[in-house]
Amino acid sequence: MPELPEVEVVRRTITKEITQKVIEQVDVFWPRIITYPENQDEFKLLLAGQKIGKIGRKGKYLIIAIGEHHELVVHFRMTGKFILLPREERFQKHIHLFFHFQGEKEGLAYHDVRKFGDFFLVPKGDYRVIKGLFHSGVDPLDGAFTYERFRALLQARKRQVKALLLDQSVIAGLGNYLCDELLWFPAEQGVHPARLSNELNEREMEGMYRRMLDVIHHSIRLGGNSFRDFSYGNGVKGEFKQMLKVYAREGEPCFNCGSPIKRETVAGRSSHFCPICQPVSI
Ligand SMILES: [Zn+2]
Repeated sequence: MPELPEVEVVRRTITKEITQKVIEQVDVFWPRIITYPENQDEFKLLLAGQKIGKIGRKGKYLIIAIGEHHELVVHFRMTGKFILLPREERFQKHIHLFFHFQGEKEGLAYHDVRKFGDFFLVPKGDYRVIKGLFHSGVDPLDGAFTYERFRALLQARKRQVKALLLDQSVIAGLGNYLCDELLWFPAEQGVHPARLSNELNEREMEGMYRRMLDVIHHSIRLGGNSFRDFSYGNGVKGEFKQMLKVYAREGEPCFNCGSPIKRETVAGRSSHFCPICQPVSI
């Protein structure tokens, strides 16, 4: 499932490819991928003839300015992705939407094997029908996401730290791999995912904040190299696998202490950690 870095890579990539292009028309092959408006004809009508403006992101939502007055908001869920394709190739399996651009041979295809993705076309800035975005917390790449802000979010709640980090209404954009990675620290003791958020000390909170930004920026850099076709989720291969310290490393030796990495369910999610470097109680 794409997390903040993967969506940010898509944002940067399609910004270069489609900004300022004019949508000629949209083919809808699977209407249920459009959550709002419910009428697909209204969706097509509002998009036709409009210019693509600035492409933003909050958490895992991509926000594409459409003309002066609308925004197209996309959530990729499990398997959604954008691909630039020549028009004549748009009838492939798993392509649910295709955006034609005026004077262009290539268009933007939305490909989604599991069809869980969501498209919303809303008046600019009006996210009331997009519950997850309307209630979303601070994005870690937002300038407002200072260490003081992060510390206050943790201390104001008494929750398992993994559950809190995954809660999109507190911090927007973190998923399972980012959460597991940011709780393991290089060369020092990290934080067990089941620890309570209001019982963390200063060193631990600072370490999490630093690791969070490090892992996000590292992931974006890797994405910039290997996600040229707007895809992601190539499993955990290559450079991405090398970056990971605990996630998807069950049974492999911890890079700090050599103990086997454990996997346990915490906050309802499969969680990876080093039992020695991330003790459940300190
Ligand atoms: Zn360890």
